[in-house]
Amino acid sequence: MQTKPSAPVLPNYVFQWKTGADPKTSAAINKFFNSTPIRVLKDRICDIGRRMWQREYTDGNGGNMTIRVGDNLFLTTQTLISKGFMTPDTIALVDGEGRQLAGKYKRTSECLTHLAIYRNQPAARATCHAHPVHATAFAVANLQPPTGMIPEAEVFLGQIGLAPYHTPGTQELAQAVGQAAVNHNSILMINHGVITWGEHIEDAYWKMENTEAYCKTIHIAATLRAGFSAITARQVRDLIALRKTLGMNDPRETLPDARLLDNTAFLKRLPK
Ligand SMILES: [Zn+2]
Repeated sequence: MQTKPSAPVLPNYVFQWKTGADPKTSAAINKFFNSTPIRVLKDRICDIGRRMWQREYTDGNGGNMTIRVGDNLFLTTQTLISKGFMTPDTIALVDGEGRQLAGKYKRTSECLTHLAIYRNQPAARATCHAHPVHATAFAVANLQPPTGMIPEAEVFLGQIGLAPYHTPGTQELAQAVGQAAVNHNSILMINHGVITWGEHIEDAYWKMENTEAYCKTIHIAATLRAGFSAITARQVRDLIALRKTLGMNDPRETLPDARLLDNTAFLKRLPK
């Protein structure tokens, strides 16, 4: 007799904490910072750093990551370190203002940008920043990628956002990215790189992979000089509905068809 296959068990990387129970004293903070669940997250940050470096998403000391681990507690990568060769002892703990609470190395100055995402977007539990070549090329061209080209991008990225250029590590950049994160989970930082957020660090990193793969595909399609063939607005709506079932809102859902799938600005910028 055949037995019914059991439902697949998906890994749950979401970090849960008790609201109102952040450790306060330095002894309690250190105990928390060195606890097993936090150690697991530090290992995951190092693992994703290696994957980003191997895929050439970061160069030199570029890129950084954070994970929300409390009401006002965030793990962050340190400053001036290659993301390919991090060890768990290089990860730092900061509060929502970026003040370092634990960790023996100085936190990245770019964590202020990440913290602005959490302030503006309560669904964000982790953030990932890198300079992958194709997506950064769109950021350098100040060119918002088109929509309606690939279902996976519609479902997992929605419309990729843009944040205006400001000096890295400044409050101005933090504010611009924080605002863009209200409606976008992948944001091109003009003349800089890409920042993504997700429900856990693996999710934020996947959105980085999705963004770079999408921009690379659009770039190659543009070089074919055969034009672009988009799916219909109706089909985009079906994908937005699917996106919602996965817990991701899409501000485009209220737009009329003509504005939902309008790539005029992108197509106008392509050389004839
Ligand atoms: Zn950067």
